[in-house]
Amino acid sequence: MHFSRFPRLHWAHLPTALEPMDRLSETLGGPRIWIKRDDCTGMSTGGNKTRKLEFLMAEAKAEGADMVMTQGATQSNHARQTAAFAARLGVKCHILLEDRTGSNDPNYNYNGNVFLDFLHGASAEKRPGGQDMNAEMEAVAEQFRAKGLKVYTIPGGGSNPTGALGYANAAMELVQQANAMDLKIDRLVHATGSAGTQAGLVVGLKAINANIPLLGIGVRAPKEKQEENVFKLAEATAEKLGCPSVVSREDIEANTDYVGDGYGIPTPACLEAIELFAQLEGLLLDPVYSGKGAAGLIDLVKSGAFSGDENIVFLHTGGAAALFGYTDAFSYDKPVEQTAE
Ligand SMILES: *Cc1c(COP(=O)(O)O)cnc(C)c1O
Repeated sequence: MHFSRFPRLHWAHLPTALEPMDRLSETLGGPRIWIKRDDCTGMSTGGNKTRKLEFLMAEAKAEGADMVMTQGATQSNHARQTAAFAARLGVKCHILLEDRTGSNDPNYNYNGNVFLDFLHGASAEKRPGGQDMNAEMEAVAEQFRAKGLKVYTIPGGGSNPTGALGYANAAMELVQQANAMDLKIDRLVHATGSAGTQAGLVVGLKAINANIPLLGIGVRAPKEKQEENVFKLAEATAEKLGCPSVVSREDIEANTDYVGDGYGIPTPACLEAIELFAQLEGLLLDPVYSGKGAAGLIDLVKSGAFSGDENIVFLHTGGAAALFGYTDAFSYDKPVEQTAE
C-alpha cells in the first residue's frame, strides 16, 4: 500500500507504542493482552481521529479551504481533534453537536471535549438528537458558502474513504511492529462507532495478508447495521487504495452486546473497565468508546473466548478528554482533611 500517493499532513506521533498489559492480563487470567497506544497520537490529547485527520485535513488544504466543518455528539472526540487540526492549519472550524443523550449535566454539556472545542477557537451549534446530521451540516455549509467562504466538510467521525486511509496505514504499522518484536497477534480488538477505524484496519490487514482477525466492539448501532456500515466503507476505501474486493463480508465482525442503554450512556461494566485500566495499568479510557470496547474485551476474556497462549491486541482509540464530561458517573470521596499532627 502506497500512502504517499495521497495528500497527508504528517502531524501524528507515529508509530504509536505497542505494549503488554501485564497486570491486567494477570488479573483476568486469560490470554496475554497488549495495548496499541493510539490514545497517544498527538493533537489535543490524541486519539484515533488524528490518523484520519492527517489525510482529511491535507485534502482540505489542497482544496484551499478557509473553513472546515464537522459534526458529532456533544462529547465528540472527533470534533475536538478537528478543531485542533484547523487551529494548526490556520483555518476556521465550525461544529454541529448532536444531543444524543438528553443529559442536563453541565459537565457533559460544557466541559471535557466541548470546552476544548472552544479552547481551540472553534464555533459550535447544538442540534436535537435523531437528525441526519451530515445533511444538516451540508445545509449549514451552504449558508457559509453563500457568504463567500470555501468550506470543507468532514462527515461524523471522519469516516469516509479518505479518513479510513489512516487506519489502513495503522494496520501496516502494527504488523511491522509485531514482526520486529516476534509477536504473533491472534486478534485485534477495538471500539467501533462511525466505522472508519474498523474499515481502514480491515482493508489494511487484508491487503498485506496479515491473517489477523479483527473484532469491533459496537457503541451505538445494532450488529447487522454496524457490520454493513463497516463493510460499505471498507469496500470504498479498498477502491480508493486500488485493491477493490480485497475485503469480503465475512471479514467484518462487530459485537454489539456492550452498548447498554445507548450511545454515550456508560454501563456499569464500562465504568468498571475504566477503573481496571486506570488502577492496574495507569491508563485512561473513556466512557463512550474505549471503556465499552474494554468492557467487551474483558467479558470475552472472562467467558473463555480466547485461549491462554494467545496474544490479543486492544487498540486504544483515545477519548479520555470526555472523562471530564462524565465525572458524575463516578462516585469518589473528596480528599480527607489533613490527619497528621
Ligand atoms: C471515534 C472514536 C472511536 C470509534 O472510531 P470510528 O472510526 O468512529 O468507528 C473509538 N474510540 C474513540 C475514543 C473515538 O473517539
